[in-house]
Amino acid sequence: MARKVLGYIELVWTCDSCGTRNPGAIRSCTACGAPQPIDVKFEHVDPATFNFIKDEALIRMAQSGPDKHCPYCGTRNLAETPTCVNCGGDLTVGATSRPVGEVIEPAVDPALQTGQSGSERASDLPKKPMPKWIPIVGILLLIICCVFGALYFTRMSKTDQMSATVVQTYWKREINVEVYQSVRKSAWENDIPSGASPYNCELRYHYDSDTPRANSEEVCGEPYTVDTGTGIGEVVQDCHYRVYDEYCSYDVMEWVVIDTLSLDGYNSLAYWPISDSLTNDQRLGDSSESYLITFEAKGKQYPYQTNSYELFQQAATGSHWIIEVNGFGNVTGIKPD
Ligand SMILES: [Zn+2]
Ligand SMILES: [Zn+2]
Repeated sequence: MARKVLGYIELVWTCDSCGTRNPGAIRSCTACGAPQPIDVKFEHVDPATFNFIKDEALIRMAQSGPDKHCPYCGTRNLAETPTCVNCGGDLTVGATSRPVGEVIEPAVDPALQTGQSGSERASDLPKKPMPKWIPIVGILLLIICCVFGALYFTRMSKTDQMSATVVQTYWKREINVEVYQSVRKSAWENDIPSGASPYNCELRYHYDSDTPRANSEEVCGEPYTVDTGTGIGEVVQDCHYRVYDEYCSYDVMEWVVIDTLSLDGYNSLAYWPISDSLTNDQRLGDSSESYLITFEAKGKQYPYQTNSYELFQQAATGSHWIIEVNGFGNVTGIKPD
């Protein structure tokens, strides 16, 4: 976020002793002569309008840095002053600078102030206390969750070993057929692979930047005033740039899946599907195999799925196995009996 200076405005401060509103750059009260206090609050003269200062000397003063308070008598001095204008004390050591950078709140009209604090009071009303049953129900729900969680894990971990017989086997093998063809894609112009020629480009919003770029648009927030520590306010705006870039379509040659060859069977010898009609621009792609062995033990059937063809070939129909079954009836391990 870049901060843009729009100009400088005169601020005001209110005398603690007599209540007079004085111009920000005046260092002692114009009515009673009281010095401006160290923790003085600067305010806008008129929060609705910005009357920018044209006097170069005042602007230079605002830019020269925050005022310093004399360590001996407390009088406010300009940043560049080496000795106090009031007592002549040395300001190069021990002088405190006014804090800078604070955002200045708009001056509040005393007539409005009562109304405002009234509405604040309404929103400050104590909230309704939380009904007592809410934490109790929460704790009960937590206990129920814990009990079910514990039951779940004990059932998961509890396993039974049984001798079982293979009653059915099933296999399925698949291979993708791919073709090398032109694929339409779209991307930011800079991300398009070299060699591909972009077309149908259009400017689209891409990202925000603090600095201007080609095809960028400046976006600024509401102006606000910052304390420079001199009684002069700096009116600034936070700005950033919305950067637009070309977003284009392009064509690229890629292998694309156009078909899946599939074979399956209920015997124990599995085959890969073969294609004898592959053209020059086609190839076989990814393949997958899955085997399902159904066991029977104590009158119940237990299916078991694996990707191991070696294991599947051992599991001929009628062969005897030891199977491990968890609390949910799922087979978690098998070995020949
Ligand atoms: Zn005064
Ligand atoms: Zn002094």
